[in-house]
Amino acid sequence: MNLTAIAEQYGTPAYVYDLAAIRAAHADLTAMLPASAKLYYSLKANPHPLVVEQLYRLGCHAEVSSAGEIDAALAAGVHAEHILLTAPGKSTATVRHALRHGIRRFSLDSPVDLRRVAALAEQAGTDVRCLLRVNADQPVAGLGLTMTGAPSAFGADASWIEADPAQFRGGGRVRIEGLHLYMGTNITDEDALVAQFDTAAATAERLRPVLGELIEVDLGGGFGAPYAHEGSRALWPSLRPRIEQVLDRRLAGWRDAHPAVAFESGRYLAGSSGSLLCGVVDVKSSKGKTFVVLDTGINHLGGMAGLRRLPPLRPALVAADRPSGRPQVRTTVVGPLCTPLDTFLREADFPEVRPGELLVVPNVGAYGLTASLLGFLGHPTPVEIVCDGDTVRDVSHLVLGRVPGPHDTAVRTDPALGSLV
Ligand SMILES: *Cc1c(COP(=O)(O)O)cnc(C)c1O
Repeated sequence: MNLTAIAEQYGTPAYVYDLAAIRAAHADLTAMLPASAKLYYSLKANPHPLVVEQLYRLGCHAEVSSAGEIDAALAAGVHAEHILLTAPGKSTATVRHALRHGIRRFSLDSPVDLRRVAALAEQAGTDVRCLLRVNADQPVAGLGLTMTGAPSAFGADASWIEADPAQFRGGGRVRIEGLHLYMGTNITDEDALVAQFDTAAATAERLRPVLGELIEVDLGGGFGAPYAHEGSRALWPSLRPRIEQVLDRRLAGWRDAHPAVAFESGRYLAGSSGSLLCGVVDVKSSKGKTFVVLDTGINHLGGMAGLRRLPPLRPALVAADRPSGRPQVRTTVVGPLCTPLDTFLREADFPEVRPGELLVVPNVGAYGLTASLLGFLGHPTPVEIVCDGDTVRDVSHLVLGRVPGPHDTAVRTDPALGSLV
């Protein structure tokens, strides 16, 4: 892929995703997991239809969390039977939307969530098969952003399920057929990955007698990958045998798919496939400091940066003339938004650049455009270009528009459901 030629042809800002890189990431990840494992692709990382379609063709199922992601998965050709709806806050409207489109698998977060899905499945006259999302009782050593073992909006505490199993057993149209144990994101240390899968499998082992037969245990993932700076994906050479040891110890029967084990990934599968091409709009000095102003910012990348949830986003210079030979200057790199939060890089050494030049932010195939402040200030959305190696497969852009009337997937009071408590 020649990024300069792409920028000349399609302009900036532009996201470029390479399907060949997605295939490489998928091959690497599946080689590091037990051969029989199911892998879900989490659409929140990148819901572009060609990205989703590529991963589905490779055998991934889809993990979705909203009406929009359901629509994106279906539009990419994913069969409803291969879609799992997860997340806290599955509203009546979201569950209805899922059922109407043939989705029958849900990850349930609480007794209220279970009763809501049960009532709506009953109304729809259809059976559903559900995983229980579980919050393990201990935190996992070495995990940064921990989503387990601490008070959490995600899932139900393992101790709650043990203490009051009747609330979680399903019945009627709902069959509880497994567990969902997603624990954290962006874990790059093999020991930490193994430790979380051990905690997940131990939790499943503990709940197995309480819940009865488990058809599927989704052990989560959180496989880390570089984000918005140069670098390559980690490989964990012993991950697969170590996971298999954990499963042999904790989950008897898994080798015969009783239960089947599953993993989830967004970042690892999609992250390295994407780059954001940015144009330099201005270079100026203020009180002795150098500012480089780009045509794209946290409206298109790193919308969570303002919450201090992200490390600096580090663009690299794409230049025909000796990019590495440029003098380094202390530079602050900002986007076009009228807020000081719109800063990619603050007073860091950076090659001297000129207005009109091209920068690229690498490794942003996951948590790029749709994880950003798309509507803020109303700049046009970047064009998204999907390549397969040197071939351009698709060029399109999202629109943020206004149409009359309320949303057909809005949450409204539903007298038929009454109180779910
Ligand atoms: C966000 C999320 C994922 C994907 O996480 P990555 O770190 O991108 O792999 C998977 N499962 C659940 C439940 C999530 O919330």
